[in-house]
Amino acid sequence: MTTPETPRDRRNRLARESYARRRSLLMAEQLEHRRAQQREAYRLRTEAESSQQTEHRRKNRRAAYVRHTQQRCASNAARIQIYDTTTVERHHLGSMDVECSHCCAMHWIEKKVSGSVFTTVFSTCCANGKVQLPTINQPPEPLLSLLTGEDSRSRNF
Ligand SMILES: [Zn+2]
Repeated sequence: MTTPETPRDRRNRLARESYARRRSLLMAEQLEHRRAQQREAYRLRTEAESSQQTEHRRKNRRAAYVRHTQQRCASNAARIQIYDTTTVERHHLGSMDVECSHCCAMHWIEKKVSGSVFTTVFSTCCANGKVQLPTINQPPEPLLSLLTGEDSRSRNF
């Protein structure tokens, strides 16, 4: 909830807004003035130069443009190279096909606890059988027949 604006607050707000408007106008004027000065300086500079100097200046500008374009193209090419999938070797983690001997969760063999040579012990699922979750209750009908049935409705469920 905001408090109503007092006459004094209103006067201050209007003064601030007026100041901001004048400042923004002044900055726009200054910017325009500076641009006009730069245009004039450029005109005077180019007006006074000989045809040879003009040719030299244009040649330099063209070369700078070409350099800039080449740099941009090179950096684009480098960027494309990074994401070019034909140059990136595919990484395959293998199959997640090893079952925990306690809780039957599926794992990658590399994730088994080191030292478990003869059994497949994992720590991330059930902490080597220490965590035992209660069995899930049988779902009520019609969910049970949909989950276990063989008819088309169950297959598409
Ligand atoms: Zn487990």
